[in-house]
Amino acid sequence: MIMQKLKSTTVKLVFLLFFPALTLQAQKKISKRQINEIKMEIIQEVEDRHKNTQVMIDKVFSFAELGFQEYESSAYLTSILETAGFSIERGISGIPTAWMARWDHGEGPVIALGSDVDCIPKASQYPGVAYHKPMVEGAPGHGEGHNSGIPVIVTAALALQEQMKKNDLGGSLVVWPGIAEELVASKAWYVRDGYFEKIDMCIFTHVSSNLSVSYGQARGTGLISVEYTFDGEAAHSAGSPWRGRSALDAAELMNVGWNYKREHLHPLKRSHSIFTDAGDQPNVVPSKASIWYYFRDITYDGIMKMYNDGNNIAKGAALMTDTKVTSKVLGTAWPRHFNKVIAETMDLNIQKVGLPSWSDADQQLAKAVQKEVNSKNEKGLATALSGIGKPQKNPVSGGSDDIGDISWTIPTVTLRFPSNIPGLQGHHWSNAIAMATPIAHKGATAGAKVVATTVIDFLTKPELLKSAKDYFKNVQSKDTEYKPMITEKDPPPIYLNEGIMKQYRPQLEKFYFDETKYDTYLEQLNIQYPTLK
Ligand SMILES: [Zn+2]
Repeated sequence: MIMQKLKSTTVKLVFLLFFPALTLQAQKKISKRQINEIKMEIIQEVEDRHKNTQVMIDKVFSFAELGFQEYESSAYLTSILETAGFSIERGISGIPTAWMARWDHGEGPVIALGSDVDCIPKASQYPGVAYHKPMVEGAPGHGEGHNSGIPVIVTAALALQEQMKKNDLGGSLVVWPGIAEELVASKAWYVRDGYFEKIDMCIFTHVSSNLSVSYGQARGTGLISVEYTFDGEAAHSAGSPWRGRSALDAAELMNVGWNYKREHLHPLKRSHSIFTDAGDQPNVVPSKASIWYYFRDITYDGIMKMYNDGNNIAKGAALMTDTKVTSKVLGTAWPRHFNKVIAETMDLNIQKVGLPSWSDADQQLAKAVQKEVNSKNEKGLATALSGIGKPQKNPVSGGSDDIGDISWTIPTVTLRFPSNIPGLQGHHWSNAIAMATPIAHKGATAGAKVVATTVIDFLTKPELLKSAKDYFKNVQSKDTEYKPMITEKDPPPIYLNEGIMKQYRPQLEKFYFDETKYDTYLEQLNIQYPTLK
């Protein structure tokens, strides 16, 4: 053994002396056939891990944690990665539930793999039941399906570790969670604090109802999330109302002003607000009141113009009511732009992996849920791939994701995987129904196969990463420069959702999935699959 090692080292040394221009990567050049073999093996590897993927999905579903409160989810997921040899940095960007897990295996590309983990307020729902049946009335639940994303990534990462060791493929894997995605309040902070500086590319995943990837400007918007707080003077509302200056009047007038403004907004812009403080009781003139807006548009400049208009209207409302106004940025998301080279590479793998095969029970559940929410789509689960998403010719308004900020920092794509039912309204209890059933489990396994095979492509074909970076620099960033919407001084609003979780966690704890006693969460909850009306 030792002699052999010595010999091969000598050969390598001689080789390097005579061919100094040849890099290590060039030496490791792998044939197309070998790459295909590795891919076939990793697809099998992911399939063999289906049980683990299912447990992770069910477990995170049962934690039902809102943004910035993902304590159980983060502790559980990092423990799996830590056991597998990843080194974990916890509390990144001053966010207690945020983390970055890294595993290095020699020289090679550094590839980030991410997904979101938080859930939706008031979306508690029994899985596998095709009508509204909250597990805990009023509690949060996975009515977006973020419980499936990190399990896709972790499954892919663990399978990749095996293949990288076995085939001596050099590179580093960086697994990270989108904390508080529903508040778009972590990824711009990660970027600001330099966590993506030394990373070559990012594969992000998001739950969907098909298996697809897109490039260019994505559908939807970016946004800035701002809370305005007005300060007035309290008084007895009946005894001496003339001595009071109502902060709530100011917040209401701001809303009136913004609603007049709305008539003159381009239809691609969207905005919505809630009152976060509207006083305590009617007989006290509210000395404090707060209103929280999301200002959305398809360009950075458009978003910042709306923000500026919002600030002016807030000042006007303060002037009218003789109150003072301050504001806080609570979240930001750049409009997303995805990398063409990564997307096209990934799309070939999507075609190879294909959609899961759904059982009759899966389809029955999907069709019943679609009917229950009066969906226009009553055809059940997707049975044909939707194909690669091309850049929007005419931009389409819609939701946002703070992956936008990362997509403007390094070459990035979002893989959408088929763990949910098509045609539902989103951010709703109905979107939670499939999320701890075989639909979610199979969709995630398909997603993990695509992530794993795409990473293999980038580990074995250095020219791919080069062209992905070229697209990022010379096409995507040609006319657009990323400017953060947050400043050095804006802290992440980690206090958000603390009160709601404190209220519901004791009840939710009783429902945590115990994988040591039950095969699936459906079994633990004693749900017949599917349960139809
Ligand atoms: Zn989401």
